[in-house]
Amino acid sequence: MKKRIGLLYGGKSAEHEVSLSTACAVTGALNFEEYEVYPIFITLDGEWRRGKRLVKPASTIEELQFGDDAIILENNITNFLIDDNGKAVQFDVIFPLLHGTNGEDGTVQGLLEVLNLPYVGNGVLASSAGMDKVIMKQLFEIAGLPQVPYMYFIRSEWANEQEAILARCEKTLTWPMFVKPANLGSSVGISKASNREELTKAIEVALQFDRKIVVEQGIVAREIELGVLGNDFPEVSVPGEIKPMTDFYDYDSKYKDGSTVLIIPAELSTEVVADLTDYAKRAFKILDGSGLVRADFFVTANNEVYINEVNTMPGFTPVSMYPLLWQHTNVNYPELINRLIELAIERYEGKQ
Ligand code: ADP
Ligand code: MG
Ligand code: MG
Repeated sequence: MKKRIGLLYGGKSAEHEVSLSTACAVTGALNFEEYEVYPIFITLDGEWRRGKRLVKPASTIEELQFGDDAIILENNITNFLIDDNGKAVQFDVIFPLLHGTNGEDGTVQGLLEVLNLPYVGNGVLASSAGMDKVIMKQLFEIAGLPQVPYMYFIRSEWANEQEAILARCEKTLTWPMFVKPANLGSSVGISKASNREELTKAIEVALQFDRKIVVEQGIVAREIELGVLGNDFPEVSVPGEIKPMTDFYDYDSKYKDGSTVLIIPAELSTEVVADLTDYAKRAFKILDGSGLVRADFFVTANNEVYINEVNTMPGFTPVSMYPLLWQHTNVNYPELINRLIELAIERYEGKQ
């Protein structure tokens, strides 16, 4: 029997459009002989819509946003289990292609757990820990992974002791510093500060996005990323390098101007690759990852390696880093999707 797969995409996040492109590409890579594909679209306003079962790949993102024939899933989260004829459908697996808040932060994962549905990718704990940069750094510390010095505080501390916080930054870190909202991705709300005035401004910006702020020591380094794929015995891809043409890898260079160059495999010594591979596995393990993560590093000219972060639902279009890394490690895009679906089912069955 064909496996019934629910593709979950869109969402109330800055990466809504990216998610739609990803969903389009995934429908192009799924074997329709093997899978029944049901699209589940979350609008920008957060409304859930189930479209008709797809009988062929979507050719445009508009096709995946549905017109009037969508089944609107009002007030009942479980009714995405109803098929086109109003009959209950038991999905074999849900493939969340969502990024950011309410997508890769454990909330949707929690919903799918409660509904007792297998789903692709990380569970609740790894997703939420991976979304909070402070928790993630604390876990990396426990795992003994090298990282740049940082500090953090919350909004109410800033309101009461601004001077003390600025002084603490200047005492523990050197310029330039990177200021980040703890709970976002895609570089949203991140700025670089080279003096106290810029730091104050950067903190005010970041506070618009989150109540918890991280200030990190900026470093001059190459940005190297590795893919991790698996459950209990994960494999690691070759490393890839990101070369943003802007000052740093900001939102526009990620999604808009297309100026970023990806070099795969990255040119690195065998020793550095061995360290990166080991650190990527350790990061996956300490987060209790499953399915996939992309582990992102800084590598300096002296070959010092620092982990920056992991992303539990990395960019997943065919031209995104994660799928390209696997393509260079002999796992092409359709195979990668099949592997992720198998891993989701394996994880679910192992838990039963
Ligand atoms: P996000 O989760 O939004 O991708 P990152 O922590 O990866 O946030 O930061 C986004 C980008 O900002 C990085 O890819 C890098 O270009 C730059 N950056 C972040 N932290 C530092 C740092 N400590 N030193 C130098 N550049 C940094
Ligand atoms: Mg991130
Ligand atoms: Mg990043």
